[in-house]
Amino acid sequence: MRDRVVILATGGTIAGVGKAGKTAGYKPGSLTAQELLTHVPGLEQITGIETVQICNVNSDDITAEIWLRLAATINEMAKDPSVKGFVVTHGTDTLEETAYFLNLTVKTDKPVVITGSMRPATSISADGPMNLYQAACVAAAKEAVGRGVLAVFSDRIYAARAVTKTSTYHVTAIAAGEMGAIGVVRDERVYLYDTPDKRHTVDTEFDVAGMESLPRVSILFFAVDADPALLRFAAERADGLVIAGAGAGEFSESYKAVIRQLSIPVVVSSRIDDGIIIPDNLLCENTIAADNLSPQKAAILLKLALTKTNDREAIQQMFFVY
Ligand code: ASP
Repeated sequence: MRDRVVILATGGTIAGVGKAGKTAGYKPGSLTAQELLTHVPGLEQITGIETVQICNVNSDDITAEIWLRLAATINEMAKDPSVKGFVVTHGTDTLEETAYFLNLTVKTDKPVVITGSMRPATSISADGPMNLYQAACVAAAKEAVGRGVLAVFSDRIYAARAVTKTSTYHVTAIAAGEMGAIGVVRDERVYLYDTPDKRHTVDTEFDVAGMESLPRVSILFFAVDADPALLRFAAERADGLVIAGAGAGEFSESYKAVIRQLSIPVVVSSRIDDGIIIPDNLLCENTIAADNLSPQKAAILLKLALTKTNDREAIQQMFFVY
């Protein structure tokens, strides 16, 4: 069989269908992976392609069960020497979360590249076909081997740990804040300039093989007058909590009073996009600093950490290395 890139389709706007020409009011997750490919001429000349339809949903409906299926599929198919790499097509709302989850759980050096689009397939100047083409070129590129999961969007390549959605509408919405892009794509050529330093893929301790669910982690967004009763309610239903604090992970005295009494791990991150929370920033001695992970990424690392341990010190260590 010809060497190939496997496209794992999950839905999103890239597979969205709506009124001809329009950018809003469409249904995400409408087209199949095969249908997406009909808009990407020339790809078959670069690499063989195989498609797998994992699901076809708005990415706000992605679940832990879908993540586990995606990771298991990649880990199994990566054993085939004729598979060069993978592209995951995904909605942009939670693309960064799936990227980071896979970055910590796939057990292969082969490129795993996630992409999507901001405009549905039926809009004028849809961005999906070019993003898919470029993502497949990166997945087929030997330069992309061993760099962890990558995101490709609007000509740029991002590391999974740093990538985030930065706009509700713009075609360059997927970016990486102060960490920036690590490469660019021009037509089928891939130019990479950096390798992520934090541990990923084959170098992580997380093995999700055979798991059917993940520990429950809730995120609490702090703002002026935030209700501490919600915090207590969330803690009763979760295995761990992430606080999206103000500034360098700060919150009120009434929040502190609840957090000090909790026995489940509590990770402190910030509601601010850029920056870092270090242990010296922590207001409560029983909490864990999220480093520069966003609340939604801190929640993923905490879920995976909880598959290994409940120990606060051990989990803090994981937040330093991943
Ligand atoms: N709501 C869509 C999704 O995340 C948005 C997009 O794909 O751009 O599936």
